[in-house]
Amino acid sequence: MVFRSHMQAALAEAAAAGARGEVPVGAVVVDPAGQVVARAGNRTRELNDPTAHAEVLAIRAACAAAASERLPDHALYVTLEPCPMCAAAISAARVARLYYGASDPKSGGVAQGARVFSHPQCHHVPEVFDGIDGAAAEAMLKEFFEAKRKG
Ligand SMILES: [Zn+2]
Repeated sequence: MVFRSHMQAALAEAAAAGARGEVPVGAVVVDPAGQVVARAGNRTRELNDPTAHAEVLAIRAACAAAASERLPDHALYVTLEPCPMCAAAISAARVARLYYGASDPKSGGVAQGARVFSHPQCHHVPEVFDGIDGAAAEAMLKEFFEAKRKG
């Protein structure tokens, strides 16, 4: 099968989250046939829910659609390196492949910080591809926080 990136769809979700006043992070879940089955952006403010990260919301929606607690052979695209909570959720959902954009030195839990997938307690390790359209995701985040600082 020809590789087709779904990061553009994740970036669109990130932009929509930013427009709602949320930190602009977006995620999509892609099924084994290559179809996007769930898409989400951060909604922590809207839902008053610190766990409402894009990845968690997308995984919940994809699992609900599949009527399964696991997403084998699925891929997850997210614009920013997942935090430890989301990395644990990705592992628990048995997501096969993780594609992420910008790295997150502050809160990332994949390539830095908790490095969830490298931990011996991690029962399922997805294939990880980083830096997918990372510059676009980073620019969006930078713009968002700069605008916030200006009030
Ligand atoms: Zn997260």
